[in-house]
Amino acid sequence: MITEHQELLAGWGNYPATKALVANPRSEKEWKEIVNHGNIIPRGLGRSYGDQAINENKHVAVSTCMHHFLRWDETSGVLECEAGASLEEIITTFAPRGWLPMICPGTKFVTIGGAIANDIHGKAHHADGSFINCVISFTILLANGNIVTASRDDNADLFIANFGGLGLLGAILTAKIRLRKIETTYFRQKSIKVKNLEEMLAAVDQYKDYNYSVAWIDAMATGTQLGRGVLTVGESAKLSELTPELQKDPLKIHKISKLSVPFFLPGFVLNNFTVRILNALISFVQNSPKEFVHYEKFFFPLDMINNWNRGYGKRGFIQYQFVIPEKGGAETLRKILEMIANSGCTPFLNVFKKMGDGQGILSFPFNGYTLAIDFPVTKALKPFTRQLDEVVLNAGGRLYLGKDSMLDREVFQKMYPQYKEWIAIKAKYDPNNVFTSDISRRLGLEAR
Ligand SMILES: Cc1cc2nc3c(=O)[nH]c(=O)nc-3n(C[C@H](O)[C@H](O)[C@H](O)COP(=O)(O)OP(=O)(O)OC[C@H]3O[C@@H](n4cnc5c(N)ncnc54)[C@H](O)[C@@H]3O)c2cc1C
Repeated sequence: MITEHQELLAGWGNYPATKALVANPRSEKEWKEIVNHGNIIPRGLGRSYGDQAINENKHVAVSTCMHHFLRWDETSGVLECEAGASLEEIITTFAPRGWLPMICPGTKFVTIGGAIANDIHGKAHHADGSFINCVISFTILLANGNIVTASRDDNADLFIANFGGLGLLGAILTAKIRLRKIETTYFRQKSIKVKNLEEMLAAVDQYKDYNYSVAWIDAMATGTQLGRGVLTVGESAKLSELTPELQKDPLKIHKISKLSVPFFLPGFVLNNFTVRILNALISFVQNSPKEFVHYEKFFFPLDMINNWNRGYGKRGFIQYQFVIPEKGGAETLRKILEMIANSGCTPFLNVFKKMGDGQGILSFPFNGYTLAIDFPVTKALKPFTRQLDEVVLNAGGRLYLGKDSMLDREVFQKMYPQYKEWIAIKAKYDPNNVFTSDISRRLGLEAR
């Protein structure tokens, strides 16, 4: 019989945290047993920021014991693996053979199950789309105990609704995904320093043909400097382009980082003064990069320090990420940046990019501008995010549910009016709400 232990769990933002009974299934049989309990949510590596993979006083099943590779086709680059396999494990095994995941988010410590459930995106969303674009099919354990395959042809409604479905339609057990052929594990990178928002938007447009594009914005800047930052664009580097030194080991992989934040830092460490110093440092580092950058620095710079989330202290932090349509986007971005600068809530890491077309039902991305801002949790934060929600909603935008922890049910329903279509699919596959979580109760993502 599968055992469970009680544990206080949170997402990457350490906010909110709730106790649950946690199990680590090691076989289909154990997954079935735990699903049979009801009131369960699958969890991967816990890199969602908020309450996506926690379940107060109910059950959480962590998928990472089932992380094996099942089949690999070197000619097509199609990998079949268990859903607890992480991008880190895939990179470590396949990068030396000349393959990388097609979609890489800002950390490699995410499981395939988690990547599907949040339909994750990376720096190349405008060119490659989100995770759905590299998934051929997956197998999923449903609430009734059956395991079915979902793809664009089989159980297509189940397939599409799982991208952004937050683990609420079943436990994904295995997936067939496409990897990308590469000649080297390096990227040719260019950085463009911009003085304000107008220059930023113009630069994003000017460099739109680059496959990878992402910007850092100094959200503390005001007045004529509002929206200043550094845009970084890049392409996968070919072998012939690398320097002779780098050509000696063109498919080099990352080392496990030894740097770590050993304990929760006191809350006062992050304040307006320290964040201004950090912003100056980021601006300097971003603006003076090497031309060829290893994927570890290019995709996953934050992975270089383990447990960096402890730097925000025990009160935790949120990542507020929204997307708004391009039309009217400049005015909305200006307004939001002004609100942030005057809010008294300290913005920490701010990432800006242009997204391409979206897919899925509750999947986040759509064609427009996205900005992600980290804020430490304070008393003033929730009322402030309510104000931001209103501006985002009025601009025709929405929040990334995979990062959210504060959104109101009513505002969510307005931001994602297609939620009713998703609820109908939930009612078809999980009519008794066997799969449930803190976010499903907060946002009403339940069959009725
Ligand atoms: C530093 C950092 C940078 C990030 N950058 C990006 C980015 O650039 N783009 C982006 O899109 N995201 C980004 N993220 C968010 C992250 O990619 C997603 O939250 C991802 O889903 C986390 O995967 P996980 O394995 O940790 O899943 P968890 O956080 O454990 O769970 C996430 C969701 O997946 C569900 N789930 C997990 N496993 C299964 C399964 N087997 N079956 C069904 N459902 C399952 C859970 O129920 C939950 O709803 C970033 C996160 C961090 C910490």
